[in-house]
Amino acid sequence: MGLWPSTASRPFSMSEAGVPTTDRQPAPPPRPRSSPAPAPAPAELPVLIVGAGVSGLLLAQALRRRGVAVRVFERDTDFATRGIGWGLTLHWSLPALKTLLPPELAARLPEAYVDRAAVAAGAASRFPFYDLSTARLVLAVPPASEAERVRVSRGRLRTLLATGIDVEVRVGGAPLGRLG
Ligand SMILES: Cc1cc2nc3c(=O)[nH]c(=O)nc-3n(C[C@H](O)[C@H](O)[C@H](O)COP(=O)(O)OP(=O)(O)OC[C@H]3O[C@@H](n4cnc5c(N)ncnc54)[C@H](O)[C@@H]3O)c2cc1C
Repeated sequence: MGLWPSTASRPFSMSEAGVPTTDRQPAPPPRPRSSPAPAPAPAELPVLIVGAGVSGLLLAQALRRRGVAVRVFERDTDFATRGIGWGLTLHWSLPALKTLLPPELAARLPEAYVDRAAVAAGAASRFPFYDLSTARLVLAVPPASEAERVRVSRGRLRTLLATGIDVEVRVGGAPLGRLG
């Protein structure tokens, strides 16, 4: 119910300024606007990776190998800020790691070994457990081949994985420089 007929049947309506206008009046020309740069196509947008640990860097290498652009951000100002001295044993993840890496980096994996000479001599990691009160060897897992299990330095692996990756250092959103 209402005093006014419906808009559809009304030949005239009032503009906001109170000036009568017909409903069929052509739309005003678009206002000139500053033309922003066209948005890049989705395929051109880089994948943003936060954290240049071994996971982030390996992901970056794997994506780049497949032609996907990446940007890697890290809060530490150098690779030595966090304790990096520990060794990592790579076993079940080793085949996947090699598949994800560009072949030239996979071939350089021995650079990250804890003891390259020992691996070359066939003395693969055996996880020895010693009784430190007697220096007696209590337990050791059976040896495995280099293809199955290797012990790498996390620091050296990270450095290897950072090869060719432009790591952007940011703290609180502010750019501080680059690593790599
Ligand atoms: C003593 C020790 C022994 C280990 N032994 C083994 C082993 O034998 N085998 C094995 O597989 N694993 C082992 N691990 C585990 C292994 O080290 C970790 O799983 C692995 O390093 C995790 O890597 P990540 O890249 O996921 O994380 P991290 O190495 O922790 O890297 C994360 C990175 O992200 C950055 N970051 C975090 N938040 C932000 C932010 N908001 N902005 C920017 N940067 C950010 C950090 O600064 C860091 O550099 C061991 C760990 C330790 C401590």
